Amino acid sequence: MTQQVVVLGSTGSIGQSTLDVIARNRALYQVFALVAGTNVEKLVEQCIVHQPQFVVLSEASYANTFKSLLKQSPINPVPTVLSGVQAMREIAAHDDVDIVMAAIVGAAGLLPTLSAVEAGKKVLLANKEALVMTGRLFMDKVRKYNATLLPIDSEHNAIYQCLPVNLQKKHDALLSDHGVSKILLTGSGGPFLNRDIDTLASVTVSEAVSHPNWSMGQKISVDSATMMNKGLEFIEAKWLFNCEVDDIEVVIHPQSMIHSMVQYRDGSVIAQLGQPDMRTPIAYGLAYPERIDAGVAPLDFSKLANFSFMKPDFTRYPNLRLAMEACKVGQAATTTVNAANEVAVSAFLQGKIGFCDIYRVNEQTLTKQSGSDARSLDAILEIDRQARRLANDIINELR
Ligand code: NAD
Ligand code: MG
Repeated sequence: MTQQVVVLGSTGSIGQSTLDVIARNRALYQVFALVAGTNVEKLVEQCIVHQPQFVVLSEASYANTFKSLLKQSPINPVPTVLSGVQAMREIAAHDDVDIVMAAIVGAAGLLPTLSAVEAGKKVLLANKEALVMTGRLFMDKVRKYNATLLPIDSEHNAIYQCLPVNLQKKHDALLSDHGVSKILLTGSGGPFLNRDIDTLASVTVSEAVSHPNWSMGQKISVDSATMMNKGLEFIEAKWLFNCEVDDIEVVIHPQSMIHSMVQYRDGSVIAQLGQPDMRTPIAYGLAYPERIDAGVAPLDFSKLANFSFMKPDFTRYPNLRLAMEACKVGQAATTTVNAANEVAVSAFLQGKIGFCDIYRVNEQTLTKQSGSDARSLDAILEIDRQARRLANDIINELR
């Protein structure tokens, strides 16, 4: 039977890759709704191809622009156009929906993703910030509402593929009870792996968003350059795979062909390999436990250069260390780091602060932040707001 899919963040990098995989597998998936922030032109193009029943935009003004563009476009049937977070939540939880791709960037994706979880949907999680912000609360809801949670972040998708089925299906099972001794989280090191550290302060926006292997949205590209992305992924892995910080090791692998590995007690290491193309994990998530065509070329081992591996250098990547330390401290710290980093990266992209200031903002926000009890959603959202205020104050002092 055709499964109905909601794509949260359809106009972004992951959203577009998701629609590409769906287009290759039309007999299996139908787009029920497209949800996006501001890019109305792209949404119109997507509606022409995918004919969703609903379209949701972040704000009423964008919804109005979208409606006027719709009138000039050959779209039949015409979708119902809505706006705002509440509409996103209702659409993500709609009775007719089977699968929700959570690919809005940042904290903006949290509430619609939680609604999909609470409605017991099959949730494909790209929006790592949602899990970093809410950790235990998120995973408790997955269990309580019997949602199916599939990681789309390529590393976590790789780890998931390398785990025994019993661990894939039980979010509260212990790795050690299933023979797993370590999760090896790989990362490319980003565009500045070999750059002279003394010149990092002068990194420009275009240098920071040019990833050597992956094509991604702006925020995650900057996060990859600072390796805060790997820090967020470290926290993400702790929650997804129910483990402690000592169970996860970050390994630099500049070629981005091995997407992560799982080490077992008997000495075996299982790795997942593939092209650096997000359509592979997206197709895996859509079809799980089956396999479908993703449009990704097979690896040609005769053409692969040597694989290399190294430990991360925390002097080069202080944000990675900061996130790993926050992970040890607990939920309030990880919510704070995530919020500060979103504010800092946005300020960097707008040219308000330098590349190395991203760390300064994150570190100082974490030092000044005072909240500790982060169990309820309200408490978490309050810590998030407080961290954003602090980060903005620090940015104003830096300028
Ligand atoms: P992107 O910037 O390309 O796209 C973001 C999407 O979110 C857009 O569709 C945008 O319209 C939408 N959006 C932003 N604010 C919104 C709001 N307030 N309401 C509704 N929609 C809003 O980002 P991306 O690279 O596609 O990344 C999306 C998520 O997936 C991020 O959390 C990222 O960390 C994660 N991720 C991305 C990749 C990748 O290869 N791009 C890999 C792993 C994980
Ligand atoms: Mg990743």
